[in-house]
Amino acid sequence: MSQPVQRGFAPVHADADSAGWWRSVAERRFTLPRCLECRAWFFPPASSCPSCGSRDTELTAASGDGRVYSWVVVNRALDPAFAIDTPYTVAAIDLGEGPRMFGRLTGDGPVHAGDSVRAVFYEVEGQVLVGFAPAMGRRLEDPQGALGV
Ligand SMILES: [Zn+2]
Repeated sequence: MSQPVQRGFAPVHADADSAGWWRSVAERRFTLPRCLECRAWFFPPASSCPSCGSRDTELTAASGDGRVYSWVVVNRALDPAFAIDTPYTVAAIDLGEGPRMFGRLTGDGPVHAGDSVRAVFYEVEGQVLVGFAPAMGRRLEDPQGALGV
């Protein structure tokens, strides 16, 4: 049995706005803040709705489904804690509920704009993080699924 690699990963420091979201991530529940006044979904967590300004918001279970908007392959990690993972891909994901979120993209295949992904949870030194994995589905530019992605 191999020992876990000690990376020197700096744990997330949640603030008052994000603490609840990080708790849901720790429980491996994918949630997004949602305004109870105008029903807008938003991310990152904030003290008020970015659409209407209401402070009446709550974390709501979300699908975790999204599509790749853009991505970058990291060959030289900016943080030494992630050097052992290089190369890895960080993507901007347009979530089905509307907000855009950044996260690690798993999988070995080529990435295309519009690829369907789903949220996944992974752990680094006890800290649960959100990433995205390819989902069986269709690309935006391939509405019939003819490419078999
Ligand atoms: Zn609102």
